[in-house]
Amino acid sequence: MICQATFTNFLYNMALYITDECINCDVCEPECPNEAITQGEEIYIIAPGLCTECVGHYDTSQCVEVCPVDCILIDPENEETNEQLLSKYHQITGD
Ligand code: SF4
Ligand code: SF4
Repeated sequence: MICQATFTNFLYNMALYITDECINCDVCEPECPNEAITQGEEIYIIAPGLCTECVGHYDTSQCVEVCPVDCILIDPENEETNEQLLSKYHQITGD
């Protein structure tokens, strides 16, 4: 059962998002340690509640590292601190 804090986090927090420049190459999806990336109706999408910008796993965002067209960006309206991202990591992993 999902706790309220996790549910609220899933709804409102945002880390990275994929722009419509995405060419559906599928390179990023297997790189995500949180399984936050899936194929949407037209382009790949990131579930904001599952994206920690790779905090807790890696020093850099793995999807950004591999995307050939640089279409994965941080939403400036919804930037999260390292502390918030680490907290999300703990909620996701249960560690
Ligand atoms: S930044 Fe990391 S956690 Fe977020 S979608 Fe990309 S690979 Fe997944
Ligand atoms: S790596 Fe970039 S272009 Fe390829 S599917 Fe992911 S977001 Fe789209």
